[in-house]
Amino acid sequence: MATEFSLLERNILKAKGLSEEQLAALGSMGVMSRADFEAIGTIVTLLELFPDLDPEVAARVLEWALPPAAREVATGPAASLANPTIVVDASDAVFCANCNHKQPKDYTPGDLCVNCGRQAEPIEQCFWCGSSGPGKRCRSCGAVFVRTADLPLALLLRRDGLPKDDIPRRLAEATSEEKEELWGRVRRARI
Ligand SMILES: [Zn+2]
Ligand SMILES: [Zn+2]
Repeated sequence: MATEFSLLERNILKAKGLSEEQLAALGSMGVMSRADFEAIGTIVTLLELFPDLDPEVAARVLEWALPPAAREVATGPAASLANPTIVVDASDAVFCANCNHKQPKDYTPGDLCVNCGRQAEPIEQCFWCGSSGPGKRCRSCGAVFVRTADLPLALLLRRDGLPKDDIPRRLAEATSEEKEELWGRVRRARI
C-alpha cells in the first residue's frame, strides 16, 4: 500500500532510523501520515504494532511526529515502562542537595529524596516575585532561582531594571570584583 508521507517526511523518518521496509510495513498497517502517529500516540502502542522496532527509533519517530502536548505523554513514564533504557532527557536529572543521590525520572520539585528522605532540593526564594519553592525555577513567575547568598544582589539588579531572565545569568557570570562592587551598592543602599 502506498503511503501518503511526502518525500521530506519519508527522508525524516529514515533519518530517525526507519528502513525502507519498515516504512512499507507502517503503510501496510495503515500508518500513512504524520497524523496516524497521533492515533498510535505512545511508544508502547507503536512497539506493540511493530515489535521489531528499535525502541530508541520509536522514541525518535514519535518525538518528531507528535504535537508537543501528546509528546509528553508518549515519552513520559509509559515510555520508560516500555524500555527503561530510553533516556528522554538526561539533562533534567535532579541530584539530592543533601546526599547527592540521583532522583528517579518521575521526580517532581518538592519530593523527598528517595535515598535519605530529606527535601531533595532546598526551598528557594524568588528574587522576582517573592514566592518560594523547591526546584530550579519559580513556579509562580518562572524566574530561575539564584543562590540564597546572592538574593540581595538579584534584588539590586532588579531595581536597576534588568530583565528577569538576565539577572540569574548576570550573577552566574559575574567576577568576584563585579560582585564586590554590587555588594558595595547593596550596603550603601541599606544605610
Ligand atoms: Zn538525599
Ligand atoms: Zn517568582
